[in-house]
Amino acid sequence: MGTRDTLTKKFHEVVRDLRARDQWRAADSYFEDLFVSGDPVLAAALAASDAAGLPTVSVSPSQGKLLNLLAVGLRARRILEIGTLGGYSAIWLARALPEDGRLITLEVDPRAADVARANLAAAGLAAVAEVRLGSAADTLQQLAGAGEQPFDLIFIDADKTGYRDYLDGSLRLSRPGTMIIADNVVQGGYVAEAGSKDPDVRGVREYLEHLARQKQLDSTVIQTVGGKHHDGFSVSIVGADPATERAHANQVNSASGKDTQESASRLPA
Ligand code: SAH
Ligand code: MG
Repeated sequence: MGTRDTLTKKFHEVVRDLRARDQWRAADSYFEDLFVSGDPVLAAALAASDAAGLPTVSVSPSQGKLLNLLAVGLRARRILEIGTLGGYSAIWLARALPEDGRLITLEVDPRAADVARANLAAAGLAAVAEVRLGSAADTLQQLAGAGEQPFDLIFIDADKTGYRDYLDGSLRLSRPGTMIIADNVVQGGYVAEAGSKDPDVRGVREYLEHLARQKQLDSTVIQTVGGKHHDGFSVSIVGADPATERAHANQVNSASGKDTQESASRLPA
């Protein structure tokens, strides 16, 4: 192919990409109008985050709603978020909780934590939502050390280089049935580049490969497009660790002499 053809091809690719992005944005705002529009509390939270100069990397409105619907569907009473920013996704998640529910969200940047606390309070969620300031790795260790009850839903959305460790920390705070969601695991598609030098791409690849090795987790990744470009979530459910489950079944078996088929079959292997 000549240089001219190559250039023409490149030009068409760029035009196609720009057009696709316009369509993603247009479709996203159509869905927002139908299903998530007109929420002054969320709009104010975003405005306050902008005014404080925080980066505009919160989940999109439709994604926030998805987190909310999943939490409602799980009847989540305890939610853990890793990476708070201005509290936008935290508001969506905390709104799914019953009155006596609890959301703990971890943030390392004191400025972001302050904005998030104010936003959660303005959303009427101060009683259920708590922002813990500090490096997420440390806070996760503290939570596990303090004998914190397991969480029903965990949303990982802090620095991508820490995702693998956050998964380990999350597993210590989980029970069979806990759902673990991680944001930004597609990175514009660059996640597929095994040789990437980009720290975020490397971080999510390490995370996903670690995820795939966990026998007690069942996982998938869904790519997304829209106002927030091309990215995606991983979704995992904690099942029974087969070894633990077998040991438990044997214990029950020898204690009661009963068939353990029923208790063992409730959980996916
Ligand atoms: N979940 C938010 C967006 C979070 S952005 C939303 O969708 O609305 C990622 C956040 O993680 C940033 O606020 C950043 O300060 C925080 N972060 C980065 N490294 C961290 C660390 N080591 N521990 C805790 N938080 C961290
Ligand atoms: Mg994110």
